[in-house]
Amino acid sequence: MKTWHEKGASQVLEELQVDVKRGLSDEDVIKKREQYGENKFAEFKKEGLLTKILHQLTDVSQLILIFAVILSLGLAIRDGHGFIEPIVIGGIVIMNIILAITQEKSAEKAMEALANMSSPTCLVIRNGMQQQIMTVDVVPGDIIVLKAGNLIPSDARLISTNNLQIDESSLTGESEPAEKDASLVLEGKAPLGDQKNMVFSSCLVTGGKGLAVATSTGMSTQMGKISALLQQDKKTRTPLQNRLNRVGGTISFIAILSAVILLVVGIMQGEDLWSMLLLAVALAVAAVPETLNLIVTLTLTHGVKNMAEKHALIRKLQAVETLGSTSIICSDKTGTLTQNIMTIKRLWIYGEEPIKETDELSEEQNWFLEKLLIACNTTIERKDDGEIRILGDSTEAAITRLALDKGIDIDAFRKRYPKVAEIPFSSSRKMMTVVIKNPRGSGYLVITKGAFDRIPYIIKNNDQRLELQDVHNKMAADAMRIITLASKVVDELPGKSELEKLEADLSFDGLIGIIDPPRPEAIESIRNARRAGIRTIMITGDHAATAAAIARELGIIVAKEGVITGPELTELSDEELAESIEFYSVYARVSPEDKLRIVEAWQSREEVVAMTGDGVNDSPALRSADVGIAMGINGTDVAKGASDMILTDDNFATIMDAVTEGRNVFANIRRTIYFLIVCNISEIVIILGSQLMGWAMPVTPMMLILINVVGDGIPGLALAREKSDPRIMNRRPIGRNESFFGGGLIEVIIQQVIAFAAVTWVGYYIGFYVVVSDTIAPSYAVAQTMVFLILGFTSVLHVFTVKSRKSIFRMTFRDNPRLIINVVIVFAIFVTLTAVPIIGATLGFAPMSSNHWLIVIGLSLIPMAVAEYEKLWDNIKSRMAEKNRVNRPIKR
Ligand code: ATP
Repeated sequence: MKTWHEKGASQVLEELQVDVKRGLSDEDVIKKREQYGENKFAEFKKEGLLTKILHQLTDVSQLILIFAVILSLGLAIRDGHGFIEPIVIGGIVIMNIILAITQEKSAEKAMEALANMSSPTCLVIRNGMQQQIMTVDVVPGDIIVLKAGNLIPSDARLISTNNLQIDESSLTGESEPAEKDASLVLEGKAPLGDQKNMVFSSCLVTGGKGLAVATSTGMSTQMGKISALLQQDKKTRTPLQNRLNRVGGTISFIAILSAVILLVVGIMQGEDLWSMLLLAVALAVAAVPETLNLIVTLTLTHGVKNMAEKHALIRKLQAVETLGSTSIICSDKTGTLTQNIMTIKRLWIYGEEPIKETDELSEEQNWFLEKLLIACNTTIERKDDGEIRILGDSTEAAITRLALDKGIDIDAFRKRYPKVAEIPFSSSRKMMTVVIKNPRGSGYLVITKGAFDRIPYIIKNNDQRLELQDVHNKMAADAMRIITLASKVVDELPGKSELEKLEADLSFDGLIGIIDPPRPEAIESIRNARRAGIRTIMITGDHAATAAAIARELGIIVAKEGVITGPELTELSDEELAESIEFYSVYARVSPEDKLRIVEAWQSREEVVAMTGDGVNDSPALRSADVGIAMGINGTDVAKGASDMILTDDNFATIMDAVTEGRNVFANIRRTIYFLIVCNISEIVIILGSQLMGWAMPVTPMMLILINVVGDGIPGLALAREKSDPRIMNRRPIGRNESFFGGGLIEVIIQQVIAFAAVTWVGYYIGFYVVVSDTIAPSYAVAQTMVFLILGFTSVLHVFTVKSRKSIFRMTFRDNPRLIINVVIVFAIFVTLTAVPIIGATLGFAPMSSNHWLIVIGLSLIPMAVAEYEKLWDNIKSRMAEKNRVNRPIKR
């Protein structure tokens, strides 16, 4: 049987029972979906549950806990005092694993959902209409519309082509784009690279356009057959998480080391081996911030969710933290900084005065407009309610809109002037050419429209040159995008591959000036960015004068920031560019290829660069930028694929929202570290100190685990949801490698650790030695119970110290209701564990009198009071500093 490339296009259509104009109907699609399934590659096996559990067990903190279970089990057997301790610690290990796995799963799910939201779409003809559908929904027989920038959704036989060029490197290894031709019919077997009448799934349209009919989908496509190669490596750990692991690792190391030293010294001094081992376990457990990883993952995914709500889809988790450090945002102009609603404001035919769009058109002016329209590829969609939508490039939509306003019947017009040949527009060439049969005589009419300084028209003399310049510059100074029209008549057309020869010796017809107003929210965001130490750079294909005028309206140019053009940029060496980069805020007449140099120059200055992009040629810059941002509406699939984040509304203001969220995530992680580490270090200090004072162990490993996991873990989880401090955008960006402990955090940690340890020791002393009630005598058990409660309560209350720089008296329930609820739950758990006699007795807690309870509560409040005092001072100092406009580093 013949394969698709051996058959003519019409035969293929017939076999697939589809009409090229109508495409498939909804019923056809349902039937075919049942027959062929979804158009996606089979998913590769994910990590199984057992592997996930084993993975968790390799974690140092889990290993330490398991070691603790074994030791306490040994102790329980030796002493015969029941197995409650190993059971509780074992339970915590299991709970930790379950929690880690479920959290990982929900994080995975959230990321998958986001990936689906940003999954590729394609344009097909169904039910007689062009429609955008998800690539997974394509079925064999679908008529696919191909344009530059599209990823091909399935294997397909071409039906018509116009200069269609496809990058098939992922399939054939061929780096040059393949030229396609629908009219070819090949004989016999042909290697993929030679199948010029076929296109293949996941390859990229780099130029031209075409129509194709889907022949195979999903795993039956060529790419499906080698889809294993397409599996992306899933990097789930970000540099920040790695840094955090190092923090956790260092503390564990210190604790394990001190445990070993204590053990060795103790044994040499003849202490009992078992009790020394128990001490070692307690130390190790105390040191491990068991819930740190979990809370950080949660904070990151919470950030991702928040960003998605604000129209920023994160594709790579890493982007969340990099956004917080972003110091330079390079943004495209059209559509991102401006509204992409283009309106023609001026028309100028050479030899006449410029006119407004509202003026009546003379016959000659009308013909000028018609020529512009001939060179447009827009289509008109009429809705049932009579509303007309213009589909296609926004510059061309402006021309079409004016033509409609002037009473031109677009459909009849297109029939009257069918195109004979076309050289499509590209952002690198900045012009395009259309050829029609000459309506005013013999031969062909060549119409070229594009940038003023790119079109090769004949200039008769210097006066003419100056006049053209003058009119152009005046329009550009009014922030207008200018389209130049030039044309000529030729007798014959060159061959298909030599069409560009037509773009020479044209005669200048005139100009149009188009307005595209700035987005009001972009103006505000640029101002906010400036305050946040972030510089906005505008990149545009427009003329330097137009670009400068808009940059002024947007507030990108406020003082002496410079404008540089693409050709000027080419003149500069990389070193020269890196040296002078700070001077330029606007890049005009640039090609997408220039963006990579801009990114690299800023990066060589140690800046963290976010760069936007939408086209295929933007992908190297998007990949290279610290945060590559693709446009969700106007972006090509390739740009999206190369990006770290997608803006679903194409709006600059969304970038700033994402930056705010990124900073907030960093602040929350810093809070979490502050929160957990104070508790961990305090526990180490308390145990070591007690040992030095010759006291018995103030807390058992089981108690420590309860404090760490319940007392820290539960409020810590709610900390991930802490809202951002409104002042977060008044500070400079977070340094790329800024320490979590900078900005005075170390001092407050030390201060808190001292306070924690002091109150705990006092509690222990009172419980052990001081008679405070007639009913309950001092004892080791009472001392341990008091230590457990004081340490537990102070740890929980510490969350309010960490939460915000605001005084606790100014916090409200609405700030973070989950946090308050979690705190209450933990208090309830601790009180239940110690005060309910049956539970308390099983866990080894002693009953306490009301005096003991009052002492516990009083002592537990002291560290918070110390922290409040410190906050008060700091707030007074920072208010004074703000008055003096001193930019303070971020503090918790
Ligand atoms: P920006 O870079 O500001 O986002 P852009 O990417 O649309 O805008 P280009 O497409 O490179 O910029 O356009 C640059 C110049 O090319 C414009 O100033 C205009 O003169 C010309 N131009 C743009 N679109 C067309 C078009 N459809 N046909 C002909 N010329 C065009």
